[in-house]
Amino acid sequence: MTVYPDYSLKKLNTFGFDVRAKFFAAPETIEALGELLFDNRYARLPQLVLGGGSNMLFCADFDGLVIQPRITGIEKIEETADDVYLRVGAGVVWDDFVAYAVQHHWGGVENLSFIPGHVGASPVQNIGAYGAEAKDSIRQVECILKATGERKVFTAGECAFGYRDSIFKQAWRGRLIVTHVIFQLAKHPVLRTHYGNVEEELRKYPEVTLQTLRKAIIAIRRKRLPDPQELGSAGSFFKNPVVPKKLADELISKDPRMTAYPINVDYVKLPAARLIEQAGWKGMRAGAVGVHSRQALVIVHYGGGTGKEALALSSLICQSVYEKFGVQLEPEVNIVE
Ligand SMILES: Cc1cc2nc3c(=O)[nH]c(=O)nc-3n(C[C@H](O)[C@H](O)[C@H](O)COP(=O)(O)OP(=O)(O)OC[C@H]3O[C@@H](n4cnc5c(N)ncnc54)[C@H](O)[C@@H]3O)c2cc1C
Repeated sequence: MTVYPDYSLKKLNTFGFDVRAKFFAAPETIEALGELLFDNRYARLPQLVLGGGSNMLFCADFDGLVIQPRITGIEKIEETADDVYLRVGAGVVWDDFVAYAVQHHWGGVENLSFIPGHVGASPVQNIGAYGAEAKDSIRQVECILKATGERKVFTAGECAFGYRDSIFKQAWRGRLIVTHVIFQLAKHPVLRTHYGNVEEELRKYPEVTLQTLRKAIIAIRRKRLPDPQELGSAGSFFKNPVVPKKLADELISKDPRMTAYPINVDYVKLPAARLIEQAGWKGMRAGAVGVHSRQALVIVHYGGGTGKEALALSSLICQSVYEKFGVQLEPEVNIVE
């Protein structure tokens, strides 16, 4: 398998930052991946697994081996009266998988239409949008352990899925490579339309089906989020913070447009975008980077800038939100310093 030295990652991260990897390889099979992990020339180097690079912030060149698994294929492994089970390669583009599911009238992932990235990252990130999360449909995650080359299968219960979080970002962080994900999709799906302005958008279509729901979500996302082909970003830079209900009530009393989603009796989740907007950052530009004019949660790269500039801007935003509201923001993006 080819290992490329001094490889540009500019087109492999949606921010479009001009960074390089000391070595880069894109194995297309589990066997090639196994060989790569045990190749003595690279085994002792730091390693980074990359999907579509749509949730990465590279602040410097990567002085090691970047591995982009390109294992493809969507295989039906089981079917019952109500469900199908699909085994999907980590290198499949996420939205190609969603399109495939919708085309076959199988429901579960349609609300996650048009999220950039590859299938392998979906359990790592537990991607979510419009009232759905990857964890709702994931049944198993197949991995290769970096240290031993051993294959390990995690059941959904073992993945410790949380809000944009999983065991792959915690206890198993950096120790494995996802090779396949098993999804359970419904043959008679119940559509989830009660989120944001989905119902409003759906009124433009003659009927509500998996196909029109997907179209409506794509239309909303196109209006709200920058297209990485035109403007660099990694989607939401920050997570929505979970805060004590008492603090949220105070903030809501001062800002009628502030909303809160209950987590439990004591805690609620606040929209980070509203906090950032209220702190005056929406649409602000600092050199080659800035805050998106339509979505304050998104830090954008206009071109010619560096990841360090984006990181510095994010620190200023965090500081000012903390000073103004007493709320600590946490990055959603994976930062490589
Ligand atoms: C315009 C835009 C909109 C977005 N909207 C959303 C949204 O609505 N909801 C949402 O949840 N996210 C959203 N995102 C973020 C991003 O699309 C997701 O986090 C996506 O899952 C990242 O996939 P990726 O393949 O690009 O992973 P990368 O960014 O390449 O990697 C992300 C993390 O996963 C790890 N990883 C990747 N592949 C593997 C693997 N095979 N095995 C082990 N670890 C791996 C990486 O090491 C890294 O830690 C958006 C991003 C952009 C640019």
